[in-house]
This record gives sequence, C-alpha cells and structure tokens, in this order.
Amino acid sequence: MLNVVIFGPPGSGKGTQSENIIEKYNLAHISTGDLLRAEISGHTQLGTIAKSYIDKGDLVPDEIIIGMIDNKIESLAHTNGVIFDGFPRTEAQATALDELLHEHKAKVSVMVNLEVPKDELVERLLKRGEISGRSDDNLETIQKRISVYETQTKPVIDFYKKNGVYKPIKGVGSVQNIFVAISEAIDSVK
Ligand code: AMP
Repeated sequence: MLNVVIFGPPGSGKGTQSENIIEKYNLAHISTGDLLRAEISGHTQLGTIAKSYIDKGDLVPDEIIIGMIDNKIESLAHTNGVIFDGFPRTEAQATALDELLHEHKAKVSVMVNLEVPKDELVERLLKRGEISGRSDDNLETIQKRISVYETQTKPVIDFYKKNGVYKPIKGVGSVQNIFVAISEAIDSVK
C-alpha cells in the first residue's frame, strides 16, 4: 500500500492537492474534516459533539478521531493505498495511525508537509469563507485554528522526521507547480 499523509496548517492546500494525488495515484481518501462535517449534516450524536469543538477552532478529542479512522482503515485495507488529509493532528493520533496500519502490515510511506506563511493562510481562509459557508472560516476561528496548529499539531512533524518519511514542500505558487513537487516526493518512495 502507498499511504500518504498530507500535512500542513489550515489553508495550506491539503484538500486541493489531495484531489490531484488521488487522481494520479489512485488512492482512497480519508479526510477527518470531511468525515466530521458529514456527521454534522447527518445530525448524529458524534456530529453534535464534533460541532462544539469545530466551531470554536479546537481539535475534536483524539478518542473520537481515532475511532473514526479505525472504522475507515478496516474498509480500505485492500486498496492501493490511502491519503490521510487533516489527520494525524496530534502525536497521539500519529502513534495510533502507525499501530492501526501495522495491524494490516502497512505503514505511512511518506508525509508531505505543505509550508505556507501565516499571513497567506489567513488571506486564503478568509477568501474561502466567502464561498465555503464553513462556520469555522471566520477571522476569529481561523486565528484560533492556526494557533492550535502551532501548539498541538506541529509536533507531529518531528514524529515523522524521526520515522524518516518526512518531505517538506513549499506550499506557495501555482497549484500545478506545488503538485509537481508533491509528485516527486511521492515517487521518491514508491
Ligand atoms: P479540516 O477540514 O481538516 O480543516 O478540519 C476542520 C475541523 O475539524 C478542525 O478545525 C478540527 O476542529 C476538526 N478536525 C478535523 N480533523 C481533525 C483531527 N484529525 N483531529 C482533531 N480534530 C480534527
């Protein structure tokens, strides 16, 4: 299996680049943000809990996220591979992902980190908010999400550096040029 973690702060282009990667490498997609938003639209109990965190810009608790991923990986164990988008966001999640993949004799093949300066992130997310209708794409929540990224999510970089699968990519410029750099990183581990 080719398992790719696409990583970076909110607004770094993970969703956009995931679409390109899925098409080129024929991977299944797990976006924890999309899974949570589906729970919210379905008015499930999990959705109600998740919404209370998402609307504040906080992370949804690890147990909820890891449980969701566990269910998904089970169903995708026999695919070509998976792109993990917006997950893992904490060291506990990164450890859990390693364990879950290990149960299927698989591992994270590469972790692609999209590097984008903070000013650009805020600008992109505000612009997205005008069309996305996402309740968390407003200035106050955007700033909170970026600060949560800095404190809780950024340490995940060191986890993958230690694993030897870390690939930093400049996430500014044209979508196409960024995708070329991502493809080179993925091809280097295939
Ligand atoms: P995203 O669509 O990836 O930007 O995620 C939107 C929001 O969903 C985040 O700000 C978090 O509140 C929540 N979320 C998504 N993925 C995770 C995760 N892996 N761990 C915790 N919370 C998450």
